[in-house]
Amino acid sequence: MSAGAGVSAPRSAPARGGGWPTRPLLRLLSPGGRHGLSIMIYHRVLAAPDPLFPGEIDREAFAIQLGLLKSSFNVLALEDAVRLMREGRLPPRAACITFDDGYADNAVEALPILQRFGLSATFFVATGFLDGGRMWNDTVIELVRKAPAARGALFDARTAGLGMLPLDGADARRAAIGALIGHLKYLPMEQRLAMVERLAGEADYDLAQDLMMSSAQVRQLHAAGMGIGAHTVNHPILAAIPARQAGDEIAAGKQWLETLTGAPVPLFAYPNGKPNTDYRAEHVGIVRELGFEGAVSTAWGGRAADLYQLPRFTPWDLSGPRFQLRLAANLARRADMADPSAT
Ligand SMILES: [Zn+2]
Repeated sequence: MSAGAGVSAPRSAPARGGGWPTRPLLRLLSPGGRHGLSIMIYHRVLAAPDPLFPGEIDREAFAIQLGLLKSSFNVLALEDAVRLMREGRLPPRAACITFDDGYADNAVEALPILQRFGLSATFFVATGFLDGGRMWNDTVIELVRKAPAARGALFDARTAGLGMLPLDGADARRAAIGALIGHLKYLPMEQRLAMVERLAGEADYDLAQDLMMSSAQVRQLHAAGMGIGAHTVNHPILAAIPARQAGDEIAAGKQWLETLTGAPVPLFAYPNGKPNTDYRAEHVGIVRELGFEGAVSTAWGGRAADLYQLPRFTPWDLSGPRFQLRLAANLARRADMADPSAT
């Protein structure tokens, strides 16, 4: 999940309506459309469904999605797609797979599935969280997830000014996480991080230390032929910090990954990634000046021709129970029979 500063409610809040996109719908939803570039965003791929966030993608859903992607698009490495775009040689229905933030499950769960399908992806890693770090929103999720119900089923959020939050059942825990994140994300970064630290300090139970990749896992992805992209060090909202600091964050993340992999890091993903909200034109200029060859936002639409603000999308944010995925995959297959443009 994107975090560090302006994260919204948990990404996998209860299904936001809709279901699995059919193949024609998927193409329609893709900002690139038939003649452009469609870039998918992922964050995590779980080993098994998470009862707290049933909408979160697990490895079974991921495999279904890759199958659908592979049958519907020309899936390319983002680095290649950027080069082909620059040369005006992008194939029709081009698509790329990207992951943001650097979760360990990307290497453990997603990599073997990508390899099974023979597909390449680019992993945008915020380097400050490598080797045991945790993004602030994940700390909040962990705090509430692991809070023992035996305590009267309340989470003590008085430190954050939110009183005692009920923890009775998954819905209540989800609501508590949403309330905490919704409140904390509007605080200035230092204050937010200090408050999350204090909440974590008050907890007398262990929080996961292995949510994010190790340096070895970044090297493993790179050695497997996957793309490694820069995503700053601390995942700040660039628009919320001084330009000089933003430049340092972008440059240091790039350099860190280049040292780690021994290879150039030509691509960048803006943290949180909303144009004119999370980053501005000056940051696009910085990315260009630092020698990147392309960058991705989290805008759905946008100017697809701007190599330094390539739009991305998450059609399966709408996911529901897994049987729905299977049903929709079947529907997609049937729809394709009636779709003359399908190849
Ligand atoms: Zn991010």
